[in-house]
Amino acid sequence: MPADAHPVLRALEPDYNNRQADRINLIMVGKGYQNMDEFLATVHRDLAFDGVEKPSPESIEKLHFGLFAIEPFKSQKSKFNLWYYPEQLTNISPADFVSQKRDDLTGNARDFGLPFATYLFFLNPTGDPQSFAYPSNVPPGVAPFKNTLLFGSATVARYPTIGDGMAVVAHELGHSIFNLRDEYVRTGPDLTDRYGHNIARTTNEARQLWGSVEGQVDPFYYTWKEKMIANGFWIDSSTPLFIQHDAKRGIDIYTWHPNEEEIRAGYVQGGGITTTGISWRPTKTSLMNNEDILDKSWPKFPPVFGSANRRVMHSVLDLFSGN
Ligand SMILES: [Zn+2]
Repeated sequence: MPADAHPVLRALEPDYNNRQADRINLIMVGKGYQNMDEFLATVHRDLAFDGVEKPSPESIEKLHFGLFAIEPFKSQKSKFNLWYYPEQLTNISPADFVSQKRDDLTGNARDFGLPFATYLFFLNPTGDPQSFAYPSNVPPGVAPFKNTLLFGSATVARYPTIGDGMAVVAHELGHSIFNLRDEYVRTGPDLTDRYGHNIARTTNEARQLWGSVEGQVDPFYYTWKEKMIANGFWIDSSTPLFIQHDAKRGIDIYTWHPNEEEIRAGYVQGGGITTTGISWRPTKTSLMNNEDILDKSWPKFPPVFGSANRRVMHSVLDLFSGN
């Protein structure tokens, strides 16, 4: 069998996978699409294997950044094999599918016999509205150890006909591969605390976790900004975009693309899923934060992870040679 072939799974791209290579095995599975062609077209669009962002002037976001158009995935693409399961799921949930494949310990059957596997489910939202992830076990505060790495799984709710929101793929892989936490604010006694790499309990803990990148701006911020400007889509924070008048509160709501300071790593109070609301996050906004809501003036949600998250991602990706 050639190196890019697999007895069950299919290669997403011709002449690209190498089963023997030291790579993360990303396994895509579809559910709810009209047929495999529609599923694959959705996957191809959202992964942007060519690494190129796609202008879409009629859309809300205007310029679509698929997974491999976003750093660090763009420059680290060779660390991934890209597979898909040849049938859509019908009578099984994604979670049960993962258990079935992961817990199959007969012979070499676990995860289809692939090491460092992670599952990414594409769900047609007409059937299943939620995007969510089971995180990996990358430990906060210490260097990751390859032999104990266990990647999780993620589902993304993606319409075949709407490109907006495709950065959710990179966001969910932030959880399932790198164990990054959500940075948006959800607070309440009924929630479960989700502290971790990018959500700290105290400023002391925050300094231990991401103090090494304090003051840094993820270089991809500048790349993204340049591309938005070049395509005529940049909304500068000095001239924010009017969204709506909130008559109840008598205020105008504006949005803008985040300025440099809003993506510079530091210690921003609040964020993440916590019972108490006491937490610190690295940047005002980032790809792990989708606080892009219409009831307050706020920067748009950028396809930029920020330096604190990039540090964690590279510590994992550096464990794989890609060869
Ligand atoms: Zn999330």
